[in-house]
Amino acid sequence: MLPLVKPYIAPRNEMIPKIEKILYSGYIAEGEAVYKFEEEFGKFIGNPNVLAVQSGTAALHIVLLLLDVGPGDEVISTPMTAEPTNTTIAVTGAKVVWADVDPNTGLLDPKSVRERITERTKAIMLVHYAGMVCNMDEFNKISEETGIPIIEDTAHALGSKYQNKIIGMNSRFTCYSFQAIKQMTTVDGGAIAFKNPEDMIPARKLRWFGLDKKIPRLENDIKRAGYKYGMNNVTATIGLVQLTHLHEVLGKYSFNGKYYDKVLREVPGITLTPYYDHTEPSYWLYTLKVQNRDAFIRLMEDHGILASPLHHRSDSHSVFINSRCELPNMDEWYKNYVHIPCGWWIGEEEREKIIQTIKKGW
Ligand SMILES: *Cc1c(COP(=O)(O)O)cnc(C)c1O
Repeated sequence: MLPLVKPYIAPRNEMIPKIEKILYSGYIAEGEAVYKFEEEFGKFIGNPNVLAVQSGTAALHIVLLLLDVGPGDEVISTPMTAEPTNTTIAVTGAKVVWADVDPNTGLLDPKSVRERITERTKAIMLVHYAGMVCNMDEFNKISEETGIPIIEDTAHALGSKYQNKIIGMNSRFTCYSFQAIKQMTTVDGGAIAFKNPEDMIPARKLRWFGLDKKIPRLENDIKRAGYKYGMNNVTATIGLVQLTHLHEVLGKYSFNGKYYDKVLREVPGITLTPYYDHTEPSYWLYTLKVQNRDAFIRLMEDHGILASPLHHRSDSHSVFINSRCELPNMDEWYKNYVHIPCGWWIGEEEREKIIQTIKKGW
């Protein structure tokens, strides 16, 4: 079965010697490899203000804490995402306030977000779902007008672009994940890119119990308790090797995605997702809307191709019962959207098979 997601690991002869060296180096905790990874990742995304963390979830949690999000506060978010986007808001004690999506893209609708803003709104959480980029022209306006900070959950969208630049410097916080199935994996890991370098000072402390690494341990005084959220030298080393292939790997996703954009346009029963002005997706998952989705999925499966909606809408979980509200566009989107394989493991032969299968009809 052609899978929807698959971890890319750099070639053995490049990866294994580096892992072996760091494992026996005598220093496997957070150290030089982590700082080097931050530097190199920063170069890739075009923002030097990067902190590496243990996971994308840790990244989101740290930035919510930096904004002092807690009980009594509201964070406007989307149900169209993976669970950690919203469970992380829930663990702070804040209320998740759902805004509706654009039924053409499944991404948060700026108009709906505006309607949900109250004096309790502490942040707007944007998810560039499946690698498609939110309507940033409008969201930037909202943030400028209201002063409410935007957190970009970029777990699906490493390499996606806004205004021709890789996402990483647009909002106050951009959070990445290097979990197993994301475009780049370090086995597990994450990063935060900051617009304001001064936000990095408290973030560094929150990443390490509340301690300040610049001050000797015995002289440290914890004023605000933090977490154990740092990256270690072993996963950072994996990340450094992975980074040397990232451009090429992302290129494969993008090539396949653009190809589908062209050839699936005219296929009956399919509606492609439009992309907002000044945005370019990274095609982590290729997303389309199909009529008779069950039949479509069956057709694909019969030909050895996995097709699936993949994500369960977050607002249906019991933990968010107090956030429930009508989201008619989400209902509409959720009935018809589906993903097809698009990543680095899809070469010309697989791509043709996928296209020919779809063209048979269902
Ligand atoms: C994977 C993911 C995360 C969290 O990443 P982890 O590194 O697994 O903690 C957050 N948001 C979204 C949308 C994700 O897909």
